[in-house]
Amino acid sequence: MQEKFSRFAHRFVGQTGTRLLMDDLGDVLSQPEAFDNLGGGNPAAIPEIQALFRTALETALKDGSFDRLSGAYDGPQGHRPLLEAVALLMRSRYGWPVGPENVAMTAGSQSSFLMLFNLLAGLCADGIRRHILLPLTPEYIGYADLAVEPGAIRSFRPRIEELGEREFKYRVDFERFRLTPEVGAVCVSRPTNPTGNVLSAAEMSTLARITADAGVPFIIDNAYGVPFPGIVFDDVEPLFGENVIYCLSLSKLGLPGLRTGIVIARAEIIEALTSMNAIFTLASGSLGASLVCPLIASGRVLDLVQSVLRPYYEARVRKAIGWCDTYFDGLNYRRHRSEGAIFLWLWFPGLPIDAQELYRRLKERRVLVIPGHYFFPGLEDDWSHRHECIRISYAQSPEQVERGIRTIAEEVRRAFAAA
Ligand code: PLP
Repeated sequence: MQEKFSRFAHRFVGQTGTRLLMDDLGDVLSQPEAFDNLGGGNPAAIPEIQALFRTALETALKDGSFDRLSGAYDGPQGHRPLLEAVALLMRSRYGWPVGPENVAMTAGSQSSFLMLFNLLAGLCADGIRRHILLPLTPEYIGYADLAVEPGAIRSFRPRIEELGEREFKYRVDFERFRLTPEVGAVCVSRPTNPTGNVLSAAEMSTLARITADAGVPFIIDNAYGVPFPGIVFDDVEPLFGENVIYCLSLSKLGLPGLRTGIVIARAEIIEALTSMNAIFTLASGSLGASLVCPLIASGRVLDLVQSVLRPYYEARVRKAIGWCDTYFDGLNYRRHRSEGAIFLWLWFPGLPIDAQELYRRLKERRVLVIPGHYFFPGLEDDWSHRHECIRISYAQSPEQVERGIRTIAEEVRRAFAAA
């Protein structure tokens, strides 16, 4: 049958990291007690946040606004009150020169990247075949399969900075990083999924300067970043400029099921996304937008980040790090310094089995993780490091996370002992 599928379909059909991740999430949903789920990207269920959205929904049901929201399409650029609220927040809080014409909504930021990557990479109207450049890997698994043209994502290895006995941090290797005329856009996630890395202000301003000088769009993926959901453990400022495409999402704020992404960029990019959105989805869903709109318009979302989200995740990651250091004690192990996002990135130098085999053994023991090699989209050289790392999420219940880490330690110990 597959030979009758189009070439377009062949880019997406088959084994991809994104599919593996989402299948595992689906398995867990259908039998939640069977797994310790350290694999997926679901945000934590934070009671205060859940109560807030529940109340907002109850209000919408009572005052009739739910009927208006669910009974009509929004325009293809998105829910107008949200476009205005986002522009107002970025203008008033950060001084960005933006209005609603600089904001678009999408069906989740995965959908934003699908549109942006295919807008800016591939065979372009001027005859140049462009690609998306990731200044460092590991990077977000979901970028890997987005570009319709094969080979339209390229990336570099990072520098590894070892920090003390246990930690390390990836840095952009500016000695290798080069922009050529074939680069359609540069893209980073900050904080980075899978590593919890937050690119430093110096790295960001260097990337911003190099891309601006070359007139190349700079896509900044803030799925975990500022201003919301703000899962960043140091104070960081968002960065904007003529060439910056700043992407946000409501998912890690607690609404992944409502599939809402937000893009802030110069009007020409927003106009293109609006056209693509119209064709791909007609319009994005209005519900997520309407639930968060009052929080964004009033700026209250920033208080929520400071008083609820950030402290919640900070406390959770501290515990998870403690379990790692206890259970992995004596193993050849390092973890990436955790500066944000909802993951820990574990490195077992010299691991005698590859991370895929470790994933398989752990799944047999009902623990889900993501093997590291999926997080190197566009990296051509076969760097053994990618088979020595795994990503774990610390966002699910503490009991699951502790049990999962203990099982990982047992399996890694067993692998080293057998070698
Ligand atoms: N970008 C990053 C870095 C992510 O981790 C995710 C999801 O986990 C996404 C984008 C996509 O998020 P969504 O489509 O739910 O907005």
